[in-house]
Amino acid sequence: MSADDWVECPICRKKREKILDELFKKLTRKEYELLLKIVEKNNLNADGINYVIENGYLKEDNELINIPKYELKLPTLRIDYEYGIDEEQCNFSIRFECVVCGFSEYLEHTKYFGDKEKIDGEKGD
Ligand SMILES: [Zn+2]
Repeated sequence: MSADDWVECPICRKKREKILDELFKKLTRKEYELLLKIVEKNNLNADGINYVIENGYLKEDNELINIPKYELKLPTLRIDYEYGIDEEQCNFSIRFECVVCGFSEYLEHTKYFGDKEKIDGEKGD
C-alpha cells in the first residue's frame, strides 16, 4: 500500500516568510496588499513571489492574474508513504522530498510480533 501527497515544505516556508518581510519594507502599502492577494489566490511559494515582482505584476491592478506554474506553488514537498502488516510484522516508511530546495528525509520502522501472535493463537478454545 502506498500513497503520495503534496504539502508546503518547512524550509521553503521560512524562505517565503523572509521574502515577504523584506518586501513589506520595500513596497508601498498598496503594492504589498496587491501582492498578498496575488500570492493567496495563486498559492505562491518564495519563487512565485519573486516571479510576481520580476514580471511587474504590481504595477497595475493585476490581482486576477492566474499563474499556473506548479513549481511556483506552495505544496512543493512530496510525501510518499508505505505500510504493510501480516502475522509476523508491521512496517511503515515515509519519504519527504522537496522539488524546489532539495530537502529530503526518509524514515522507516518495522515491528515484529510473530511470537506474541503464536502464543495468543494457542490460547483459543
Ligand atoms: Zn523546500
